[in-house]
Amino acid sequence: MKRILVIGAGYGGMRAVKKLAGADLDAEIVLVNKNPYHYQTTQLHEVAAGTKEPSDITFDITQAFANKKNVHVIIDEVTKVDQDAKQVELKNSDPIGYDYLVNSLGFESETFGIPGVEENGWPIVDINTALAARKHLEDTLKRYKTSHDENDLHIVVCGAGFTSIEYLGELVHRMPKMAKEYGFPENLVKVECVEAGPKILGMFNQDLAGWAVKYLEKKGVIFHVSTPITEVMPNAVVSNGTQFPANTIIWTTGVHGSHVIADSGYDQKRNRVVVADDLRVNGRPDQFLIGDVSGVNNPGNGRLFPTTAQISIAQADCAANNIVALLKGQPTEKFVFKALGTVCSLGPTAGVASIDFFGHWNLKGWLAAIAKKFVADRAVFELTNIRTMLESD
Ligand SMILES: Cc1cc2nc3c(=O)[nH]c(=O)nc-3n(C[C@H](O)[C@H](O)[C@H](O)COP(=O)(O)OP(=O)(O)OC[C@H]3O[C@@H](n4cnc5c(N)ncnc54)[C@H](O)[C@@H]3O)c2cc1C
Repeated sequence: MKRILVIGAGYGGMRAVKKLAGADLDAEIVLVNKNPYHYQTTQLHEVAAGTKEPSDITFDITQAFANKKNVHVIIDEVTKVDQDAKQVELKNSDPIGYDYLVNSLGFESETFGIPGVEENGWPIVDINTALAARKHLEDTLKRYKTSHDENDLHIVVCGAGFTSIEYLGELVHRMPKMAKEYGFPENLVKVECVEAGPKILGMFNQDLAGWAVKYLEKKGVIFHVSTPITEVMPNAVVSNGTQFPANTIIWTTGVHGSHVIADSGYDQKRNRVVVADDLRVNGRPDQFLIGDVSGVNNPGNGRLFPTTAQISIAQADCAANNIVALLKGQPTEKFVFKALGTVCSLGPTAGVASIDFFGHWNLKGWLAAIAKKFVADRAVFELTNIRTMLESD
C-alpha cells in the first residue's frame, strides 16, 4: 500500500489530509505534527493580547480524523526531510518513509539578523509564543503597582503588517480592563508601533490603511514609519541611535518558512521553495510543498503570492487532487489561485476589509468587523474555522 505523508497540521496540512481521506484511496495517510492540536494561526494575536484563550482557537488533531480509518496521526517533530531516501526524520521516533510527501511545515519568526531580537522581542507565531507574550505583558503591567517604573506601561510593537495591527487592535481594546484589574493609571500607558517601511498595512489601499491608522491613533497608538529597527535591547527598541523605551517589545515584523527546509537541502530563499505549476518540487516528482514553506508565482504580476491561510488551503486542495491523479496514473492539474480578499480586525468591533466576492467591497469599521466574523463563522475564505473547514468540500 502506498503511503502519503503530510508534515505539519496547519491550515494546509489539515486540509490536505481531509481531502485525501475523503478520496477513497487504497493508500495510507500519515500526518505528523509536533503538537497534538491544530491552532488557528489567524487568531493567535488574540491569545497574545489576552482576549481569547488557547482553547478557543485549538482543535484536537487525532479527534478530527478519528472516523477516518486510513489516517494515522503521529505527534512528533520533523527534523529533516531526507529527499534521496524518501523519508522524514523525527526527533523522538524512527524515520518514516513516504511514496508521496506533502510538506506544510509553515512559518517561523524572522529576526532579519537584528541584534537582540531573539533575546528581547516576543514573537507571535504559535500557541506557546502567544502565551509567553501574553504572560510577559500581564506580568509587566501588574508590576507597575510596586515598581512605579513607567517603562512597565510602555509597549512597542515592531512592524506594521497584518499581525502587528491586529494585535494592536486587541491590545488597546483590552487595556482599560487591564488598567482596572491590575491597578495602573491608564493615562501613563504608551503604545508605539515602529515600522521600517513608509507604509502601515501595505496590503490595503491608502483609504483603508489610513482609516485603520486613525482608528488606532484615536485609541492612543503612536506610529513611527520609515524607522528601521537596528537593535532590540531588554528595555528599548533602537533605530539608528533613537531609542523607544518599553519593557514589553512585541516582535511581529515578518516570517520565514520552517528551518527544516534549509536543513533538508532544498533550493530555498528564506526557507521558501518556489514550486512547479502543479505544486511539486522541481526534480522531485513525489513531493508537494504548500503553504508558507512554498512560493507560487503570481502570473498577474510576476511576483510570488503572499503567504496566507487562504492560499495554503487552496494549495492543499490542488496538491491532494494531484496525488489522487498520480495514484490513478492521470496527469496533474496546474494550481490556479484567485485571492478572495483580506480582512484585518482592529479589535472585536472594528476592522478594514478588501473583499472580492460577488463584486469588490472595501469595508471599514463595524462592517469589516462583521465581515471578519462572517469569515470566521462561514469560512468564506476557508481560513479561520477549522471545524467548518474540515466539514466543507
Ligand atoms: C497573528 C496572525 C494572523 C494572521 N491572519 C491571517 C488572516 O487573517 N488571513 C490569512 O489568510 N492569513 C493570516 N495569517 C497568515 C497565516 O496564518 C499563514 O499564512 C498560515 O497559517 C500558513 O499555513 P500553513 O499551513 O502553511 O502553516 P502553519 O499554519 O504555520 O502550520 C504549520 C504546522 O506545522 C507544525 N510544525 C511546524 N514545524 C514542525 C516540525 N518541525 N515538526 C512537526 N510539526 C511542525 C506547526 O505546529 C503547525 O501546526 C496570519 C498569521 C498570523 C501569525
